[in-house]
Amino acid sequence: MTKSSSSGTIRAFDDRERRVSHEADHRPAAAAGYDSPAAYSEDLARFLADDARVTVYRGYRAPDLETGADHLHGLQRLLFDEGWSRLGWPVGCGGAGGDPRFRAAMFDALWDHDIVIPEAYNTLEILVPVLLVHARHLAEGYFAPLLRGDETWAQAFSEPDAGSDLASLRTRMEPDGDGWRLTGQKIWSSYGHLSQRSVLLARSGGPGHRGLSMVLVDLDQPSIDVRPIRVEDGENHLSEILLDGAYISGDRVIGAPGQGWAVAMYMLQWERGAYGWIQQGRFHNRLRFMLESGHVDPGAAQALGAAYAAATALRVHTRQTVNRLAREETLGPEVSVDKLLLVDAELAVWDSIRHVMGPAFEFDDDLGWLRSEFLYSRAAPIYGGSQEIQRSLVAQRVLGMPREP
Ligand SMILES: Cc1cc2nc3c(=O)[nH]c(=O)nc-3n(C[C@H](O)[C@H](O)[C@H](O)COP(=O)(O)OP(=O)(O)OC[C@H]3O[C@@H](n4cnc5c(N)ncnc54)[C@H](O)[C@@H]3O)c2cc1C
Repeated sequence: MTKSSSSGTIRAFDDRERRVSHEADHRPAAAAGYDSPAAYSEDLARFLADDARVTVYRGYRAPDLETGADHLHGLQRLLFDEGWSRLGWPVGCGGAGGDPRFRAAMFDALWDHDIVIPEAYNTLEILVPVLLVHARHLAEGYFAPLLRGDETWAQAFSEPDAGSDLASLRTRMEPDGDGWRLTGQKIWSSYGHLSQRSVLLARSGGPGHRGLSMVLVDLDQPSIDVRPIRVEDGENHLSEILLDGAYISGDRVIGAPGQGWAVAMYMLQWERGAYGWIQQGRFHNRLRFMLESGHVDPGAAQALGAAYAAATALRVHTRQTVNRLAREETLGPEVSVDKLLLVDAELAVWDSIRHVMGPAFEFDDDLGWLRSEFLYSRAAPIYGGSQEIQRSLVAQRVLGMPREP
């Protein structure tokens, strides 16, 4: 196998078995100059199978959300330091080059080895592409700490009275010298209490979407209070963020003041497409876990078949989306289909797991993590934009139907 680098074609490693079996010989993937995701996947699979440092992540089940996030930072560091996670990101900001298909290949390889994807990768897939286009200086400054897991960021758009109707949000952003002051209340920010910074949507101008700006805020200011919100599974998945004159410098505006809506719309194509790809890997992994658990009743064929079909439909569709993103196509309202397929798959997979595993699912002490994932799956029709809103977007903006009165 040959791999080409920007300086021309380079020879494959002479002795790949030796390379993967000696830690000191692990050449960073960045130096390998892979010319296709397939070649990269193959080498990554060997690394994940053979490197002793990966063992603590294989089959890992977090006892709680905070311990899990801390443990998986170690995985992020390992994948970054060895170069694997830098494939698929631009060289200029610290990546190793290549397109988003490399990232998709990494997520697949991790799930294949029963290695849970750190939540931070979900956020990265949503936020970093936006920075690359609309705030390159921030992408260059923060790419490495984010990808390595040295920093975690949140996304703070929703407010108590502005979720589906996001354009009505009220958090104010007032000029202050060369910067801005932010005052308001954000809610439902995933991993907010574990984050050092947040991308946030605020009102810098008049009413409606034209008055919005997207910014990056440091959360460790005295004028910001981040309060975790415990959800159904007993974990602090979400947070409320209270801002009382929090300061940002002028260079923290993503895009330009007043362009927040356009930036948010650009972000959505990643939120709906790339996120869906990561999740389909999880669904297939969990179905596999269930089949191997020994609890499966042969009478469960219908439920299992339906769940597998839904997860496969999501995989096939989001693969197209990842390919379109790799070709740098601008995606439009059709990405709502990705979100709708995600909801169908997430609900079907977890319904089938609960149904098929029966009493073991409900009572087995070792399956707390599975019950927790089931409970979180109930939020699928709401997070990332509700199912009803996605259906309306498809009807009106893809199929051209008139708006409901
Ligand atoms: C697990 C989870 C994680 C989240 N993470 C984040 C995050 O990290 N950052 C962030 O900013 N937000 C986050 N959210 C918030 C999420 O984006 C909002 O909950 C979502 O957009 C819905 O807004 P809402 O909660 O205000 O509900 P509402 O907008 O009040 O909607 C309530 C119900 O009414 C329906 N509805 C509303 N308007 C219409 C309409 N025009 N037509 C038809 N039906 C309608 C909705 O479909 C929904 O069923 C998260 C939410 C969840 C559950």
